[in-house]
Amino acid sequence: MFSNYSRTLGTQIRRFQSTLVIAEHNNEVLSPITQNAITAAKKLGGDISVLVAGTKCGPASSSLTKAGGLSKVLIAENEAFKGFTAESLTPLIINAQKQFGFTHIIAGASAFGKALLPRVASKLDVSPVSDVISIKSADTFVRSIYAGNAMQTLVVKDGIKILTVRGTSFEPASLDGGSATTENISADGCATDMTTFVSQELSKSDRPELSGAKAVVSGGRGLKSGDNFKLLYDLADKLKAAVGASRAAVDAGYVPNDMQIGQTGKIVAPDLYIAVGISGAIQHLAGMKDSKTIVAINKDPEAPIFQVADYGLVADLFKAVPELTQKL
Ligand SMILES: Cc1cc2nc3c(=O)[nH]c(=O)nc-3n(C[C@H](O)[C@H](O)[C@H](O)COP(=O)(O)OP(=O)(O)OC[C@H]3O[C@@H](n4cnc5c(N)ncnc54)[C@H](O)[C@@H]3O)c2cc1C
Repeated sequence: MFSNYSRTLGTQIRRFQSTLVIAEHNNEVLSPITQNAITAAKKLGGDISVLVAGTKCGPASSSLTKAGGLSKVLIAENEAFKGFTAESLTPLIINAQKQFGFTHIIAGASAFGKALLPRVASKLDVSPVSDVISIKSADTFVRSIYAGNAMQTLVVKDGIKILTVRGTSFEPASLDGGSATTENISADGCATDMTTFVSQELSKSDRPELSGAKAVVSGGRGLKSGDNFKLLYDLADKLKAAVGASRAAVDAGYVPNDMQIGQTGKIVAPDLYIAVGISGAIQHLAGMKDSKTIVAINKDPEAPIFQVADYGLVADLFKAVPELTQKL
């Protein structure tokens, strides 16, 4: 009797449950992490809507209307969303939550999501849960703590649950097979003079984007200079790989910080990760240890990176890398 009652209650709760996924995009193209966030939303059960906010975001929103499992694509176009600042998007998300009664709000744990959702959570007076790697139920989430050395399972008691999800922990959702309705929502009250978007400089590269690449070649302090990263670019081009770096290489100015992998950089989980001249500090491992095959090239046989490597080469990188590139 009791179990029937709780089953019915469970079904009702699921029916009233609805999730808003915040799409990340550049008006033209959807960022792949949005598809990972949609998969995470599906694990919660209930209704799913996606919010696409931008200046002229028609192309980005139309790529979502056929995504399977979505009921609505909410669109907000306004000059206020230039630069996608957290200050302008927060009131939009709060209004959407009030209008539609979303119980969950999800974004990818990217620079965009990490800047936006804590602000939304504070305005709603709830606790955000960051970098979720697994969803156990509508209120129970797993995240890694202590640079990936421990897993924390949290039960969230807040009425509205705000999550950023780690892209590499959820398969990308298909953008086919569905027929979501679209609805324009008002951007009234979103213009703000608290921040003004001035400009951004995006690094352009013909190589794959680091977070979604199938192969990554990564360099550390052992490279000794920015010029020597050319060795890694040559190897990466043969493997169609992206190039990443340790924080020590970034801090030394060898490469820009959007290449940093680790606890305070990007999290990657490619099929192949080649760590070159990287010692394997836990903060670096936190960003790459879920890679399927890890190869390490280091002249120090005691380097901790060899403890996580599937294949290790104890060698001078300045000899080994050009040889490898030549043989490929
Ligand atoms: C709060 C906090 C957050 C952090 N976040 C990050 C992060 O996100 N990402 C990150 O990477 N680090 C992070 N760090 C820094 C981290 O602790 C390490 O200092 C850093 O990862 C070391 O980088 P590295 O392996 O390139 O340099 P090193 O530790 O100096 O290692 C260089 C390696 O190169 C090898 N080497 C040298 N010359 C050669 C050669 N000729 N051939 C082959 N091998 C050679 C050496 O044997 C050595 O193992 C963080 C630290 C803190 C405190």
